Amino acid sequence: MLNKAFHRLLTQLDNLTFTQSKQVQNHLNNKCSIETLENITGTVDCCPHCQSNSIHKWGVRSNLQRYRCKECHKSFNALSKTPLARLRHKESWLTYAKDLIDGESIRESAKHCHVDKSTTFRWRHKMLQIPIELKAQHLHGIVEFDETYFLESHKGERDLGCKARKRGGKATKRGISSQQIAVLIVRDRNGNTTDAILKQSNQNSISKVMLPVLDKDALLCSDSKPSYKAFARDSHFTLETINVSAKEHVRDGVFHVQNVNAYDSRLKEWMKHFHGVATKYLNSYLGWMRLLDREKSITARELLGVISGRKLIPQPLMRT
Ligand SMILES: [Zn+2]
Repeated sequence: MLNKAFHRLLTQLDNLTFTQSKQVQNHLNNKCSIETLENITGTVDCCPHCQSNSIHKWGVRSNLQRYRCKECHKSFNALSKTPLARLRHKESWLTYAKDLIDGESIRESAKHCHVDKSTTFRWRHKMLQIPIELKAQHLHGIVEFDETYFLESHKGERDLGCKARKRGGKATKRGISSQQIAVLIVRDRNGNTTDAILKQSNQNSISKVMLPVLDKDALLCSDSKPSYKAFARDSHFTLETINVSAKEHVRDGVFHVQNVNAYDSRLKEWMKHFHGVATKYLNSYLGWMRLLDREKSITARELLGVISGRKLIPQPLMRT
């Protein structure tokens, strides 16, 4: 726009009514959000369908630059083939990403983003898929581990085949059962964390999770479950067991399971925001907790970068 015309436009803005000003404001906010989104996802330098670098610009649609591949002739934009492709209301994604960090409910987010709650529900599950794979690959020094339990939930499934449990409630059986899912959490003193849903709580399943990530000099701390002891013995790790139920908390100043227990408490507290998590999504929520715990000051922009998969994961996440 020419400078002269732009200044004329600015002068005309003074004549707007309050409602018109609001409309202009919303319009500009949307425009800025979408531009920010393109900055977050970065420049497109190859075709997401065939990876060819031979691409050229191909107009603009839904405020996003489109490209066309000279090799496969398909068109795409910066979000094609990412989990965010084809999701609508892009202008609200930054607001939504912030709500996810804050653990806002689907209903509250829908209000903040001016969309229906079915939309924020869809966004949540798209965006939740991403950090599942982001697990620590290497745990060293003192490594604490423990199992925690989540109630089995078929939330959202239509054909329950059994009587739905009232929200909340308690399992009537201890340990893994048709009512509870066990999650093994393994965490070192640098905050590197991995976790896994266990089908069975035994030596074999614990080995499968822990052996690939444990430094061979790691020193383990846990409660005194027989399967933990058997794992440590057969894998030649030193294990310091803490008898928390006998009010033992710290031994020799360093041996304790307080880090893993504190992580578990934060996880349970954060999960409360979501009013019961369907078991089929549990892995996604565990991934989110690892991401948020690791990246305590992650911003909505960085989060969208991670979600889009276009921008590299923020550096500290790569540190293992
Ligand atoms: Zn192509």
